[in-house]
Amino acid sequence: MARLQRTTTVRLLALGLAACAAPRSEPLPSPAEASKPAAEAPLAAPPEANVHGGAIADAGPGAPPRGAAAAAQVAADSVATDPVAEVLALPPSHSRSLGGPDSGQLQGAVALPERGPGFIHNPRRPHDARHGTVELVQAIVRAAAVVERELPGSGLVVNDLSLPEGGPIAQHGSHQNGRDADILFYSVDTRGRPLPSVGVPIDPEGKGWDFKDLSTPVDDVRLSLDAPRTWRFMQALVEVAGEHLQRIFIVEHVRTMLLEQARRVRAPRAAVERFALVSCQPGTPHDDHMHLRFFCAPDDIAEGCLDKAPIYPWHKQALAAQGLEAVRETWKDRRARRAQVAARTTTREQARQRAQRKWGKLHKRVRDFLELRESWAKKTTPARPYCR
Ligand SMILES: [Zn+2]
Repeated sequence: MARLQRTTTVRLLALGLAACAAPRSEPLPSPAEASKPAAEAPLAAPPEANVHGGAIADAGPGAPPRGAAAAAQVAADSVATDPVAEVLALPPSHSRSLGGPDSGQLQGAVALPERGPGFIHNPRRPHDARHGTVELVQAIVRAAAVVERELPGSGLVVNDLSLPEGGPIAQHGSHQNGRDADILFYSVDTRGRPLPSVGVPIDPEGKGWDFKDLSTPVDDVRLSLDAPRTWRFMQALVEVAGEHLQRIFIVEHVRTMLLEQARRVRAPRAAVERFALVSCQPGTPHDDHMHLRFFCAPDDIAEGCLDKAPIYPWHKQALAAQGLEAVRETWKDRRARRAQVAARTTTREQARQRAQRKWGKLHKRVRDFLELRESWAKKTTPARPYCR
């Protein structure tokens, strides 16, 4: 039974066909041990986590509070007992991101709560990688809450951010200083009903398969990208993160679908343009999740936070207004960590062998899908090169 609980992404990752923004010259990161929440895990936030509703104020024993002082006390108590409110109350100076995404560390890390309004941290990820900077974690929490409020009934599944102190992390080249996050796409079944996201690769038609057991087609589940919710999350993220958001790594065809959705709902032009600017397909396809990267926060730059390209003009200007300048992570910075990262990852060939041992013969639909998938892993829209 254990193997039936393994996820599609695990299995496809096990074939070395997905990886997360690792430098292309390095071995591909190894398969994620798990990429979906337990099937029974509810995605809706428990009432006590709902900082926007009245549940918190109603939850306390005794008579309802009266007056401003009592209201303030209730608010303070809420922060003290609600991890989501606690995270949202933190000042930017709480966290410090040091070094670069491929060579850094994290101090004063903020843990993404296990769940909150409209999101869940994937409990089946193999390590405690739900830590980030204040800016990153707050933006994810806020954007997920917007989707929950406007398009309720589903939930964002968040995979890895960084380890509690940052540094090298298995299966990733970056994610080292609290400014990277992997987010699964919202998905729906064939009738358009929300499905818990399992990290299924999405094809150019916007569809995917949760193959479950890779050796038999009987348990395959067809699903589609939930473009309305995924776009709504993107719009909210762009808006709440503002100048902090640097990159969204995402396969080109899903990017195109999200831009089409933005047009359908007449999304605000500024958000659409910013999304279009910062999103791109990296060398590895990112067809089963998107990878967010945030810039160094201004107060971290002086402490040694390093950015990677591109440093957009609007970011330069925002920094210049504070008398700051972005500092780039160099090859030398990254080289020191390369050996460590390589030792913690698995080559594509090792991953293939492992999958072979585990599953034996893959059924035809899986083989066909993987072959098809190679086409978009290699090609992107000619006018848009890979992002670097
Ligand atoms: Zn990633």
